[in-house]
Amino acid sequence: MLKDLFGKKRKFATVPSVSMTQEVPTVEPKEVPEGLMHKCSHCGTIHYSKDLEKNLRVCKGCQHHFPLSSPERVQSLLDNGSFTEEFDANLISDNPLNFPGYEDKLEQDRSKTNLNEAVITGEGLLQGMPVVLGVMDSRFRMGSMGAVVGEKITRAIERAIERKLPFILFSASGGARMQEGMISLMQMAKTSAALAQMENERLLFISVLTHPTTGGVSASFASLGDINIAEPGAQIGFAGRRIIEQTIRQELPKDFQTAEFLLKHGQLDMVVHRKDMRDTLGTLVALHTHREGE
Ligand SMILES: [Zn+2]
Repeated sequence: MLKDLFGKKRKFATVPSVSMTQEVPTVEPKEVPEGLMHKCSHCGTIHYSKDLEKNLRVCKGCQHHFPLSSPERVQSLLDNGSFTEEFDANLISDNPLNFPGYEDKLEQDRSKTNLNEAVITGEGLLQGMPVVLGVMDSRFRMGSMGAVVGEKITRAIERAIERKLPFILFSASGGARMQEGMISLMQMAKTSAALAQMENERLLFISVLTHPTTGGVSASFASLGDINIAEPGAQIGFAGRRIIEQTIRQELPKDFQTAEFLLKHGQLDMVVHRKDMRDTLGTLVALHTHREGE
């Protein structure tokens, strides 16, 4: 069922459509030398892979934002060498429902990504200011949220509370992890409860929604930021387009579920180009840190 959702979403994006299954894991098209060159699937511009990396994986031709891996994201944001210790790096999913083949898929993703799960969390310095940061990685089980993802995010929030630090979370997720069923859905409540506690402590939570942020992740922590930011062109939504159209019996606008559409309709605070993300977050954290010190 989850696959159906993705299939439908793929068809409508007006932001030059990004197929999650084709584009997220690797981005090497066949017609150019693998690893060395990268052809933009949206405008056809050919980049040297190194140039694309330097440009934070944003196409110079059309400004399309390709997914960043979680380590790349951390590197693009935090002060060099300040993210020294990943929180809970050893937490690994088991197979609570004995879902056939789940362990094998986890193992494949672990070896493909060098990550243990679809989110990394830790503490580091953003322009000299300490923050707790979480970054989801869509290469790992499409960034879906199972028990470990929910637990790592919850613990990161709890550490931010303990240390009285701002929490910044980059989401990239297909939603709840179907192989963990209800346990996966429970993570929505757990993470939201932890964020409510953070709010009670008057601590800053900035949610950054990147392509794609859908399903149970969009319906829980990703939408609960004091400030909600998205990257240009990101697909953000809960259910797929066709399901909604069939339910409400109306045709949806072409740019429905894009970051720009959501900004226009008041569901986001900002859409921020990747090259400006670090400075924008730095400014926001500085503003709020100053207030706390007053
Ligand atoms: Zn392009």
